[in-house]
Amino acid sequence: ATGPGRTPRKVATHCPYCALQCGMTLREEAGRATVLPRQFPTNRGGLCQKGWTAAELLDHPERLTTPLLRDPAGELRPASWAAALDRIVTGLRAVQQGHGRDAVAVFGGGGLTNEKAYALGKFARVALRTRHIDYNGRFCMSSAAAAGMRAFGIDRGLPFPLADLGRADTLLLVGANPAETMPPLVRWLTEQRERGGRLIVVDPRVTATARQADLHLQPLPGTDLAVANALLHIALTEGWVDREYVAARTTGFEAVRRSVAGWWPARAEALSGAPVADLEATARALGTAERVIILTARGAEQHAKGVDTVTAFVNLALALGLPGRPGSGYGCLTGQGNGQGGREHGQKADQLPGYRRIDDPAAREHVAGVWGVPADELPGPGVPAYELLDSLGTPAGPKALLVFGSNPVVSAPRAARIEGRLRDLDLLVVADFLLSETAALADVVLPTAQWAEEDGTMTNLEGRVLRRRALRPPPPGVRTDLEILADLTARLKVQGRAPSYTENDRKVPFLAPPGRGGADASDPRVVFAELRRASAGGIADYAGVSWERIDERDGVFWPCPAEDGPDTPRLFADRFATPDGRARFHAVEHRPAAEEVCAEYPLHFTTGRVLAQYQSGTQTRRVAALRRAAPEAFVELHPDLAARLGVDDGEPVRVVSRRGEFSAPARLSTAIRPDTVFAPFHWGGAARANSVTNDAVDPVSGMPEFKICAVRLERVDEP
Ligand code: SF4
Repeated sequence: ATGPGRTPRKVATHCPYCALQCGMTLREEAGRATVLPRQFPTNRGGLCQKGWTAAELLDHPERLTTPLLRDPAGELRPASWAAALDRIVTGLRAVQQGHGRDAVAVFGGGGLTNEKAYALGKFARVALRTRHIDYNGRFCMSSAAAAGMRAFGIDRGLPFPLADLGRADTLLLVGANPAETMPPLVRWLTEQRERGGRLIVVDPRVTATARQADLHLQPLPGTDLAVANALLHIALTEGWVDREYVAARTTGFEAVRRSVAGWWPARAEALSGAPVADLEATARALGTAERVIILTARGAEQHAKGVDTVTAFVNLALALGLPGRPGSGYGCLTGQGNGQGGREHGQKADQLPGYRRIDDPAAREHVAGVWGVPADELPGPGVPAYELLDSLGTPAGPKALLVFGSNPVVSAPRAARIEGRLRDLDLLVVADFLLSETAALADVVLPTAQWAEEDGTMTNLEGRVLRRRALRPPPPGVRTDLEILADLTARLKVQGRAPSYTENDRKVPFLAPPGRGGADASDPRVVFAELRRASAGGIADYAGVSWERIDERDGVFWPCPAEDGPDTPRLFADRFATPDGRARFHAVEHRPAAEEVCAEYPLHFTTGRVLAQYQSGTQTRRVAALRRAAPEAFVELHPDLAARLGVDDGEPVRVVSRRGEFSAPARLSTAIRPDTVFAPFHWGGAARANSVTNDAVDPVSGMPEFKICAVRLERVDEP
């Protein structure tokens, strides 16, 4: 307890938002929580405005502190936990009895702790026995994940510590804007340039990051793949390919060599608009430097050809002999707070814990053994997030959905359609601590604890497993996600059927609710102990990662198979995680965007983020300082385009695509190409940018094409 005259309480923890997971100290005095900077290897004491203000939401007046039930008149009303959970269980049973087990779906989030992601996957597969679980990480890093898996046999955002960025001679950022999305990372970029390194940015906008670059390539959205192939073409022509490395450590180069042979720089320029001279300068900076790092982020990845686009940059990195070389490599800047860990522990439709494939018989045997269920009782693979959301409420799709830590009404592509699907459900349950746009549609809303009110682990963009520590317990009336899952499991009467957790040699019921004997399965420490066993031997092996070990130093890098063995800050030094230890080239060809501009929709539209907001904005739009810094959505367009349309700065404009429309004030800027329009996706309602985005998805990753579609722009006073 704290209060006047008492010693302030402090915990060392991490920011609740993005994948940088900046270290911070949380301090509580007289009931008030504040954020203090903390030295940590990723942020070195730095925090962005979102991190500095993160504690404000703990005592926010809009915070949910009681369950809400929709009454017969359609209003959400406060209710007891017993009434809310009974309504859920009754609804789930009715749906499954009427339509089968797969008629219930679960949707998770990339911000959930490892323990929650794991428990959610287990809850879906064992308690509900549905194959339908996926999460919003599909909308974030899934293309880079798939490209990493097929090239390296492993998917870890950065296969090296972040500090390597500061020592790179050449750093190529593709579709990444860390100056706005993760500002403390910019210190590494500054250090890199102060040491004489070159920073090259590929982005259709002159972003805050691009302004710091030595060279900025500003291609048309959707043409990054052609840029990558042209860079490799130049490297081949100039003799910068590391033939020894390619021969010793890779397979499949010949097909790639043939496929890029036709990517003359002039052809890439004609397609992308990136000048030949800039392409050549970029290739030279990559091909002739000693330490070279290539990073991609959402700009390259959120396309219906996102996997192939990332693969093209991976091909380039492999041809130059970068992965595994000290201070060099390819990496992806993961976005959400637990974007990395969130995809490793089983909340993805096709995966079991440890990054195991759910259709792999050996993986099923292993995980089923840990869970104490027959392997043949585990459901098979589900479908990726957009396909799942788009099937909800349809005759063949799920009729009930449980959402934990996500707001698809704002974050999904073609969002109005998804909103309609959610409205068609028999039962929508949302667990959140604020009434998001998705929660506002729910039949049952469950108020959950916030990041500073529960313990757990997160895995940051480097694959570094971190400890999130509780400052204080949740307020009265609020429960943790793990408590909710444990209680629901008990009410579904599956406890005892599959004894699972073991601690101190005591068998305890599967996801047992607190206080009912045995180890408390709503205790994240207990869940993590089981996660370690379930992940053992998998790609993302956490068997040797204990909370104590994390506490002893600044996190533990997976894979870490043994508690008395080393962790793995750097991957690929000797071999890749493929059966023969070699990385795989894949020939990839440019293809047009799923939707091209035309006379009716003549402009390219692309989305992104702004410094003061995070994801669907549920949290950051409610923080006073962040609201002041970024009070509303906007539509960024070039002054030449604005003049053509007769639009003034600040004037409301309507963005219209084949799928919908949204409106926001115009922001005139020469930072954008005259043929392209940009808007941030953090806002809902009439300013929801995802009302217009394209739901075409990548065939491998399921990633929707957020980053390019065709629109027209109208003045709002036009009919
Ligand atoms: Fe938080 Fe990311 Fe900002 Fe760091 S950069 S303070 S982790 S939002």
